[in-house]
Amino acid sequence: MTLAPVPAFAQAPKAAEVDCEQVKCIALTFDDGPGKYAGTLLDTLKKYDAKATFFLEGQYVNSRPAFVKRMVAEGHEVGNHSYKHPDFTKIDAGVIRSEIKKTQDAVKKASGVEPKLLRPPYGLADIQVSDVATEFGMPMILWTAGSHDWDTKNEEAIKKKVLEVAERDGIILMHDWVKQTVDGMPSIIKSLQAKGYRLVTVSDVIKRQNLQPGQIFPVPEGWEK
Ligand SMILES: [Zn+2]
Repeated sequence: MTLAPVPAFAQAPKAAEVDCEQVKCIALTFDDGPGKYAGTLLDTLKKYDAKATFFLEGQYVNSRPAFVKRMVAEGHEVGNHSYKHPDFTKIDAGVIRSEIKKTQDAVKKASGVEPKLLRPPYGLADIQVSDVATEFGMPMILWTAGSHDWDTKNEEAIKKKVLEVAERDGIILMHDWVKQTVDGMPSIIKSLQAKGYRLVTVSDVIKRQNLQPGQIFPVPEGWEK
């Protein structure tokens, strides 16, 4: 008898596909991490059987790789949010390319998977950013609404805002470095679930959009392609 080789990274158990045409879906997204409270957030998500998407900064992937490995193992989606968060519309294509590549490599090293989605820092993109995203085969994902968590840093205000802007197939911007966001998450998730929402990944929510590399979603005002 021979033993099967142990894979370097345990695969997440294949969750049943969520069909957002049948289910009232919403995607919570957490930017700039993994932040120092990511472990607590992951515990909460697990407890309430909720999935999320993390748009990671490569520099923090390298300093906190265990969180990234756990995100993937627990069925969350990981996206690319640059290496050090520069404004992509103010730098050369070569620098954008290196910011994206270094983060792809860091996430791959930490978790065994490569991000399929790009969220440019500050949600700012132009035709040059789109061209580089195309080289990496990635669409660019913005958000339908923000939680203003980085601004208010107030648990009640964050919860109120999220419930106010929540909508079917919405993509909500939050941050796992904001302690009040992570502290308020059990209550936010319970309220969303009570309203019938299933918390899913961005890829679940955008499936019907059939986005191509370099395309942006939702399309910002004034965007021409
Ligand atoms: Zn950011």
